[in-house]
Amino acid sequence: MATQPRSTDDILREALEANGQRFTEQRAAVYHFLASTRSHPTADEVYLQVRSAVPVISLATVYKSLETLVGCGLAVKLTYGDGSARYDGRTDPHHHARCLSCSRIVDLPGQVPAEEIEELHEDTGSFQVTGYRLEFTGYCADCAAERRGASEAMAHG
Ligand code: ZN
Ligand code: MN
Repeated sequence: MATQPRSTDDILREALEANGQRFTEQRAAVYHFLASTRSHPTADEVYLQVRSAVPVISLATVYKSLETLVGCGLAVKLTYGDGSARYDGRTDPHHHARCLSCSRIVDLPGQVPAEEIEELHEDTGSFQVTGYRLEFTGYCADCAAERRGASEAMAHG
């Protein structure tokens, strides 16, 4: 028998149970939204979206649900120097680029090869690398176009 593709709810149910957590409608709504977007939303943005599907949900519940998803390996939390955080429903290896103008986060393909990480361990002699954080910075398509427009207006003004 061919294996059926697992539904988002099945994936969530399994991951929650494996981590001793209960499946709830609130957690499902948060996970559904996160799995459906590439926008790397903040907890506030998730709350605004999920509230339309589950009106009784609170910001605190959304926040706790997001942290539970991160704990179960179903989401990744991206933290920033100003104390803000964004959540990513995409957990396969990929890089991020952050727009210096509007703070938008864009996915970029790629990952640091395992051999390179092993070499780092050898190079430092002792440091045990368990992960890495790498962020590209620049301007998203919209902001890059705006900047081009502004510099052109300056040149012609
Ligand atoms: Zn931008
Ligand atoms: Mn991402």
